[in-house]
Amino acid sequence: MNADVLVIGGGASGMTAAIKAAETGADVAIIEKKEQMGKKLLTTGNGRCNLLNSDRSPKHFHSSDPKKACEMLDALSNKDILDHFAVLGVLCRETEGYYYPYSNQALTVNQAFNKKIKELGINVLTGCEAIKIEKKAKGFKVICADRVIDSKTVIISAGSPAGLNIKEKYTGLGLLDGLNIKTMAFSPALTALLSGDKCTQYWSGVRCEALISIADRGEVLRSEKGELMLAPDGISGIAAYQLSHYVKDGCCCLIDFAFDRDEKELFAFFRSQSSRTLQDILEGMFALKLAKTLCMEVCFRNAVFKGIKPYEARLDTDEKIKAAISTVKEFKVNITGLRGLGESQVAKGGILLDETDENCMIKKCPGLFACGEILDFAGDCGGYNLMWAWTTGIKAGTAAGRYAL
Ligand SMILES: Cc1cc2nc3c(=O)[nH]c(=O)nc-3n(C[C@H](O)[C@H](O)[C@H](O)COP(=O)(O)OP(=O)(O)OC[C@H]3O[C@@H](n4cnc5c(N)ncnc54)[C@H](O)[C@@H]3O)c2cc1C
Repeated sequence: MNADVLVIGGGASGMTAAIKAAETGADVAIIEKKEQMGKKLLTTGNGRCNLLNSDRSPKHFHSSDPKKACEMLDALSNKDILDHFAVLGVLCRETEGYYYPYSNQALTVNQAFNKKIKELGINVLTGCEAIKIEKKAKGFKVICADRVIDSKTVIISAGSPAGLNIKEKYTGLGLLDGLNIKTMAFSPALTALLSGDKCTQYWSGVRCEALISIADRGEVLRSEKGELMLAPDGISGIAAYQLSHYVKDGCCCLIDFAFDRDEKELFAFFRSQSSRTLQDILEGMFALKLAKTLCMEVCFRNAVFKGIKPYEARLDTDEKIKAAISTVKEFKVNITGLRGLGESQVAKGGILLDETDENCMIKKCPGLFACGEILDFAGDCGGYNLMWAWTTGIKAGTAAGRYAL
């Protein structure tokens, strides 16, 4: 089999690239190792597909080369991307900055891609895994388990190992072996924060709204408000995921469990409850398991409660009230790492952005393009990873099609 443009990986970025390449008039083929294209896309946004975000500030983009990542994203606006969706027949809507398909279903997006791919006559081989890319004097040879494909250009859009189940082997970066392209090993991002602190043994299963910050040597690096899921091995939930980009050795989280009450208000409330035990007061504010955890931690962490059993503790002095407030509003949790790649939504690492030009072509290997998560980029939750997939897919596909013709 021959092609002008061969796309390796039929996910969000690969399908986008294939469509844009075919629109230039090039003869395009996609090889996808799974039995169906867009399987990960179908799971995005809890099946709703959060596909863009109106807040494009750089704090949402993470890469070892943040400047280049911003430049690459700035190449297309949200309007450019929404126009691309309109051509596919997908109407989108924005709610508080988050964009979803109007249907609220990722299926709508995946179906639209598949229909367009069919309409454009793109050759799709599913159940076909690429094993190696070889550079020829003119073009490339892509070796798969059961065939060899010659192509004038290749777009590698094999994603990352994030979210793959334990039995699936990720082979994307290995395709580049021998091509001398600089890559960084993948590591988890957008996943739960791990902690071995004792509090995790008690709070497991609690969901609560909180303000969570990540700090390194006393400096707060980022704060997020939202729902936390307190787990037996640490802290999960979107707000915690957003902090996962900043985890490093020796860092900790500070959780404000009463972020919408200032210290003065809490002081007045705690003082008004002085006839109750500390545990009773906390049970009136938080879910039972969290109240018990906080009660124990208030007593263990503050010298003013020394020798007092947690279930007997009372807020009968100003010092004790202040100590309780500081534990509730600045609850420190030591972070030891992140959950693995299989449980993360995206991965850090991949092909270094400096290896690519403004059209996502690998500078030292003309005719070879890369798009999507295989590039060294990981966005925040909120549509940023698909924003990257569409932007780099459109760029790579259009340029590869033109290059081949
Ligand atoms: C649970 C979950 C929810 C998410 N929700 C959102 C969200 O709401 N918004 C958002 O912006 N992002 C979200 N993401 C992230 C987003 O899904 C990815 O960033 C995006 O899908 C990356 O697109 P891609 O094309 O680079 O990779 P993928 O979509 O992973 O596609 C890569 C494709 O390549 C194929 N492939 C790999 N190796 C080979 C090979 N050797 N030969 C042939 N084929 C190969 C794979 O089977 C796969 O189909 C979510 C991720 C997860 C896991």
